[in-house]
Amino acid sequence: MESSHSSILSAVADRFRVEMTHHQTRKPQTVSVLESTPEGNKLKIVLPTRGCSWVYKSGGCSMCGFIALSGYPREPVDSGLLAGRFRTELSKYRDIRDAFSLCVFTNGSFLDENEIAPDARLDILRQIAACRQVAEVRFETRPEYVTEDVLEEISDVLQGKRLQIAIGLETANDFVRRFCINKGFSYDDFDRAARLVIGRGQLVVYLVVKPLFLNELEAIGDVVESARAVMEFEGSVAVLSPVNIQPYTVQQYLWRTRRYRLPWLWSLVEIARQIGQTDSPSHQVRISGFNSIPGPQGLAHNCGRCDRQMIDALLRFGVDDAKAVAGLDCECLGRWQTVIREAEQDSPLEERLRQAYMQLIQEFDLGEDIANELPPFQAPADAHPSYPAGS
Ligand code: SF4
Ligand SMILES: [Zn+2]
Repeated sequence: MESSHSSILSAVADRFRVEMTHHQTRKPQTVSVLESTPEGNKLKIVLPTRGCSWVYKSGGCSMCGFIALSGYPREPVDSGLLAGRFRTELSKYRDIRDAFSLCVFTNGSFLDENEIAPDARLDILRQIAACRQVAEVRFETRPEYVTEDVLEEISDVLQGKRLQIAIGLETANDFVRRFCINKGFSYDDFDRAARLVIGRGQLVVYLVVKPLFLNELEAIGDVVESARAVMEFEGSVAVLSPVNIQPYTVQQYLWRTRRYRLPWLWSLVEIARQIGQTDSPSHQVRISGFNSIPGPQGLAHNCGRCDRQMIDALLRFGVDDAKAVAGLDCECLGRWQTVIREAEQDSPLEERLRQAYMQLIQEFDLGEDIANELPPFQAPADAHPSYPAGS
């Protein structure tokens, strides 16, 4: 794990954690929302665990704001309390007639025993098994918590309900995942977990659109390549989420200081267009993340006038395929095309990253020692995908 994290992004994120503990007054809450989606009703329940262990260990990922909902820092939460909160939330939906798909969120990993102890996990699984309306259940987790034993326990208790295990891979590119996101695991770690999931449940993979430091063109190439890598896993679903801005994150800091521009919706249209050509019934690709919890401070956008129309079309992508994004138009298209042309002239990613890191070291006074840790950047050969003609 250690070789897949960025000490510099960790050090900056830690500063925001300290700031957060000074300002935070909010108590962690149990939240539930029932949404109607093109695929049917979806119930989301967010449990008030202590939050993601990766944040405690290494400051967390550059864009992630979940920890701000967790009352950080906290001791592990009592099992009886978590199972009780889950019971209370689920019981609010007992009278719903139609089946729904249930997503259990923890602001971290459902399978992390520091967040949900084994006895609480078992209790929650039994409640789900006993709820007749739950047709399908999704748990999110980092790959290191996926084991054969825990997957078998889940399958045994759920008694035939459809299972989805969702992993935030973010990108198939180890360089980007480490130095732009500070995710703390490698593609091989993901691959091991993904292979355990296949056959026991459906693999759902979250991919992020435009992590820090990538320009608009690199971001398009990165996510298209990543979605294609996910398609290698039989029956998998790739969920593409454009970065949004959350408080106390490195992402927010660079956005506020105008060193990061949220992805253009035109870039998502281009991603959908490229992926639409390779999508197939055994692999699904969806675009999501426009109504995330917690509500973001900034979202992917175009000129403002066409944003709603674009988002509606993008949300339909995957349901009626690439046709959903065909024929969109707005006068801001030309501005986006200029951004793409300018991105073609950018210096190599590793060079820009080194400069950005040096600036962070200075601004946060991280000391010379950490500067010595600057890695020998070697961007992968596909960091500059060629831009397709005629798009
Ligand atoms: S994105 Fe996931 S792994 Fe990263 S800090 Fe947030 S909850 Fe943890
Ligand atoms: Zn527009």
